[in-house]
This record gives sequence, structure tokens and C-alpha cells, in this order.
Amino acid sequence: MIILLLNAGSSSLKFQVIDMVCEKVLIKGTCEKINSRKSLIRSRSFAGVEFIRQYDELVDHKDAVYHIKEIITDSKYGVIKDFSEVSVIGHRVVHGGEYFKDAVLIDDDVIEKIRDLIVLAPLHNQANLNVILICRELFGDKISQAAVFDTSFYFGMPQKAYMYGLPYRYYEKYNIRKYGFHGTSHKFVGEKCAEIMNQKIEDLKIITCHLGNGSSITAIDRGKAVDTSMGFTPLDGLIMGTRCGSLDPSIVTFIEEKENLSPEKMDSILNKESGFLGISGVSNDDREVLESAKNGDERSALSQEMFDYQIIKYIGAYAAAMNGCDAIVFTAGIGENQWGHRENVCESLSFMGVELDKKVNREMIFGKCGKISSPKSAVEVFVIAANEELAMARYIQKIFTK
Ligand code: AMP
Repeated sequence: MIILLLNAGSSSLKFQVIDMVCEKVLIKGTCEKINSRKSLIRSRSFAGVEFIRQYDELVDHKDAVYHIKEIITDSKYGVIKDFSEVSVIGHRVVHGGEYFKDAVLIDDDVIEKIRDLIVLAPLHNQANLNVILICRELFGDKISQAAVFDTSFYFGMPQKAYMYGLPYRYYEKYNIRKYGFHGTSHKFVGEKCAEIMNQKIEDLKIITCHLGNGSSITAIDRGKAVDTSMGFTPLDGLIMGTRCGSLDPSIVTFIEEKENLSPEKMDSILNKESGFLGISGVSNDDREVLESAKNGDERSALSQEMFDYQIIKYIGAYAAAMNGCDAIVFTAGIGENQWGHRENVCESLSFMGVELDKKVNREMIFGKCGKISSPKSAVEVFVIAANEELAMARYIQKIFTK
């Protein structure tokens, strides 16, 4: 089975073609800056053949899908002879609301529900839906389409964890509750962790830390996500590259009033001007902020201390919420590569019996994965590579083998 995975952003479209027989990525690439004069497509096949082309303009996502089809079937850059070799097009859809607990085949009803949820994730679900409709228009019924939702893993979260202390009517009227995001990644590394430990996930309490430009932490109690740091939107929880993370909500109205800001401007400040970038004033990129901290910049150092401190607090809270913790997993750009954050965090978790093998931890970077805790540690600690696309492809394949 060959699956084409599409991950649409408002001005980007990432793609991957995976052959599920051997779970091999045949080609992956990105269309960037769609709808601008600097549109660009780049891809790289498993054989190392690279395609990079600047376009005068990719007018819209339809243009991008058309070019992706051309590239993957191209005799020089491509990996399949004919597009009909693709069995399914899988879409990453950010918000599944209270509708979707698993990946689903897309039909009219699914489309209507994704449309309903645009109000909860305006930029993301709109872009995801547009691309689904484009693929329907271009390929009709000849190729099945499936959707995998970022929120599905949190479907069974207990109500005590997902409700906010607001008047109940807002939950009833607007579905205001915690949804959680990065679900595909947390589920994938949680399952992988159980596999490495050679234990059933049903016997384990795991805390997974997805630390990248967007970061979240999830408590997985015997295979089920029971709490997570992101909330109604991906803005909640940890301080991130440009997102502020959890705040006292009164700060928002206070700043809006003092600076006479519209809700849109305030939203942009919270999502795009805050986090590492907002505190350091240097960058949203952890590598650059760390470099600047090393060179003596105090605000850069502060943003990093805040990040570590908040991770420690979430892990402590989730260990308490689950009444125990067997394993901690670090994943994504920062989690997989920045050993310093892992060391700082684990040093403060000695109260739980966490003990790192510092040497192994320092070496576990740039794609290496495995256990970084010492044999004496009461909690096993792992670095596991995020592979959201493979996880998506597996969930889609499952639909066909049910
Ligand atoms: P992600 O969102 O998972 O792509 O992660 C991006 C974040 O990981 C950025 O803040 C990067 O600075 C950080 N990072 C640190 N080391 C690396 C690395 N070797 N490769 C990629 N990202 C890295």
C-alpha cells in the first residue's frame, strides 16, 4: 500500500510518500510560501535525488497539489510511475473536536464535521479542509482519502482533566474545553517506549515530552492519554518558540485595555511574539537562544531556565496525577537533540528516583535514540525520534485492516 501524506498549513503544504510494505519513505518535501512571489518546492527521494525549484507564484494549494503530483511521478525526481499507484491520500487535520477518536476515511459527513470545527482552529482546519476538497476535485473517487486528527489521542481524557473552571454553559454553547494537540506524536513515542521496555503499554505509566518549536507534555496512563499541557488551542502549557504557554487569563484583558489592542492583535502577540522570542528578544529557535545564552545574554538564559522549570513542574504534576511514573520520553527537535535541557530537567526529578546516565545522555543526539537513564534509576528515561508521518500512515493502514 502506498500512502501520500499531506500536511497543510495556511501557506505551506508538506508531503511524504510512504510504501507501507516496508514502511519506507519514498519521497518527502515541502511547498513553501504558497500564494507569494517567493513560492518554493523542495523534495528529496530515498535515493537522495533532490528537487528544488523557485516558482514565480504558486497561486494556491491546488497549484501546490498539482505540482506535488507532477514531482512524485516525474521520471527524474519522482518515485512512482503513475499516480494511480497511490492507494490513499492521508491528511493531517489539526482539530477533530469531540467527533473523532481515530483516523477515518473521508466522506461527506467527515467533511461537514471538519468544517464545523473551523471555528475552533480557524487557520489550520480551514487549510486542511481546502486541501481535502482539492484532492476530491482532482482525483474524484479513484483514490480514497483519510484524515488523522491531532486531537484524537485525547478523546478519552477524563472530564475532570479537560474542563476549565468557567461557567458550564460555555462548554455547552461553544465546546470550550481542553482538547490537546500533538496527539499522533505522543501516542507513537508512548507505544514505542513500551516496545523498547518490552512491556505492555497497559502496564505502564508514561510521561511523554514533545519539545520542539511547539511543545507539549502528556500523561499516558496504561495506554490512555489522561492529561496534556496544551488546551483549547495549542497556545496553552509550556513556553514555546513564539507561544507564551499558560498565563493568568487576566493578563490578556489587562494588556488589551492598556495598549488598546484588538483581540486579533493580542492573539498574534500571544502566538507569534512571545515564548523564547518574546523573552530573549533574540530568536524562537532554541539553538540560537542557547548560543546567545552561552555568550552571556541574560534574557536568553532566562527563557531557557523558564522552559526547563516548566517541564519539571509538568512532569511532577503528571506523576502525581497518575500516582506514579514508569518512564519519561523526550522527543522532537529539542527533546531529541538538546541534551542540556534533558540533564537540567532530570536533575530536578531525583525526588522521583530519576537518575540519568550523563555520558549516555550527552551522546544521545542527532538521530540517536535509546535509554538515557542509569540502571539504578527508578524511572526509565528515553529519547525516541518523533515520526508523525509514519505514525499517521500506520493509523490509516489500520482503517483498511479492521
Ligand atoms: P521541531 O519543531 O520538532 O522541528 O523542533 C525545532 C526546535 O528544535 C528548534 O527550536 C530547534 O532549535 C531545536 N533543535 C535543536 N537541535 C536541533 C537539531 N539538531 N535539529 C533540529 N532541531 C533542533
